[in-house]
Amino acid sequence: MSCVFCQIIDGSIPSKAIYQDEHCYAFADIKPQAPVHILVVPRQHIASIAHAEKDHKHLLGHLQWAAAEIARTKGLSQGYRTVINTGEDGGQTVDHIHVHLLGGRPMSWPPG
Ligand code: AMP
Ligand code: ZN
Repeated sequence: MSCVFCQIIDGSIPSKAIYQDEHCYAFADIKPQAPVHILVVPRQHIASIAHAEKDHKHLLGHLQWAAAEIARTKGLSQGYRTVINTGEDGGQTVDHIHVHLLGGRPMSWPPG
């Protein structure tokens, strides 16, 4: 059984694409933490950035670029936050790299 985000990417779990290209797929988070909460995931299954290898560095940059592109289309001109949770202490619950794009409200710092 492939992971939940692989199933979203291959269509076996239905979702509405907010952005997609040959490298990544973006969709709304099921439990939004802000008025805009979108997940940008690579089509390739990589468990976390701790599992990423040197060959993946362009892909990691592409995910951040895609998040910025989506933020522009969503009109987040006041700013937004991108987050990558990694591992247990990082609060990662789905073991497939994803960039959270959060916006539409002021963000506090430090995060919890
Ligand atoms: P993280 O805790 O950083 O691993 O983030 C995982 C995120 O995936 C959480 O914000 C969840 O709400 C979200 N999530 C889990 N399952 C789904 C799903 N089927 N569709 C959309 N978002 C999901
Ligand atoms: Zn996966």
